[in-house]
Amino acid sequence: MRSYEKSKQAFVEAQNLMPGGVNSPVRAFKSVDMDPIFMERGKGSKIYDIDGNEYIDYVLSWGPLILGHTNERVVEALKKVAETGTSFGASTLIENELAKLVIERVPSIEMIRMVSSGTEATLSALRLARGYTGRDKILKFEGCYHGHSDSLLIKAGSGVATLGLPDSPGVPEGIAKNTITVPYNDLASVKYAFEQFGEDIAAIIVEPVAGNMGVVPPQPGFLEGLRAITEEYGSLLIFDEVMTGFRVGYNCAQGYYGVTPDITCLGKVIGGGLPVGAFGGKREILERVAPSGTIYQAGTLSGNPLAMTAGLETLSQLTPEVYQEFTRKGDMLESGIGQVAKIYDIPHTFNRAGSMIGLFFTNEDVINYETAKQSDLNFFGTYFREMAEQGVYLPPSQFEGIFLSTAHSDEDIEKTIAAAEQAFAKLKK
Ligand code: PMP
Repeated sequence: MRSYEKSKQAFVEAQNLMPGGVNSPVRAFKSVDMDPIFMERGKGSKIYDIDGNEYIDYVLSWGPLILGHTNERVVEALKKVAETGTSFGASTLIENELAKLVIERVPSIEMIRMVSSGTEATLSALRLARGYTGRDKILKFEGCYHGHSDSLLIKAGSGVATLGLPDSPGVPEGIAKNTITVPYNDLASVKYAFEQFGEDIAAIIVEPVAGNMGVVPPQPGFLEGLRAITEEYGSLLIFDEVMTGFRVGYNCAQGYYGVTPDITCLGKVIGGGLPVGAFGGKREILERVAPSGTIYQAGTLSGNPLAMTAGLETLSQLTPEVYQEFTRKGDMLESGIGQVAKIYDIPHTFNRAGSMIGLFFTNEDVINYETAKQSDLNFFGTYFREMAEQGVYLPPSQFEGIFLSTAHSDEDIEKTIAAAEQAFAKLKK
């Protein structure tokens, strides 16, 4: 048995210092009935906790570390930049470099504004959509998570779903009433909502692959349908690619699925593990942002040189071949775990898009939040703990996906399949 003694002690102290002992709710491991594990360092696909336990990491800081931990090029570049200054609050050349790279890669982005988190990206994108259209309402999907701003914290996924808190106290009713929610992959409900409120809807915001209710890819025609209906009603289509951006494909999910939104939100991978978010889109829309336009948005640390450097060094290592490798490794992981699940007669469904992988403990198709909730959550808790015991670190919630990095080797994947086999054998007993 692994010892988590130092983590346990650290958590006792942390609980007095921070709400629930953590700085972000999903880190509390509540839904898997375990105390949080305190991490100390990472290298490649591995992380090490303060008790000295090693894990193959499939969380990767919730997505950003697509090259694995402490990628050499990223770390070297960061060291150099840190010596020249950590922040100026003034323009720097590296901001142009990252902006050019993102504009080149992301079909919808002609102009971009950098921010410091995914939450900031989505809340700024909403303000822009509302300011641009002169409309107040927005439409989002149940189980999609777009950060914790007021308008978006309604029937949200991720930690909100994990803790079963679909609507948060503190969100004023006057704001909540402007958010319409419908089930993911349900175009008929979207059409119905637009028939009722279409002229007042500023935008649809959607995760082009949902990753905050576990992984739920769009069904054929869903994203195309959202594009058509927003065009019909003069609303904007916002893709929240904070998770999918540069993860699902070389040109993000929009390139992969061939649907171009008006505004795109980015985060995670574009910051390479440092705090970065961004929103971008058509020039005509982005030019409405201050100071070229009147829609206000700002940030003391926006475009921070360290953060831009980590982003640039990360994105410039992502070639089209990297994504082919993700597909190969994803196939290997899915078929390996699928086979052992069959041997032990474990109900399971895999959902996948690029290097985002969701495993649900149900035999039913998972196409939205309702069906994601069919997964056996108790079973997931035991699976999580068994996998940790064998050195595989998964997100501590059924409503999160796992991620691959370029640092995950075939050997890592083989070990993960062997760990799953042991976990399933124990679960069956
Ligand atoms: N949008 C999506 C799709 C996300 O997955 C997340 C975070 N998991 C966010 C927005 C919020 O990003 P952040 O946590 O950086 O504020």
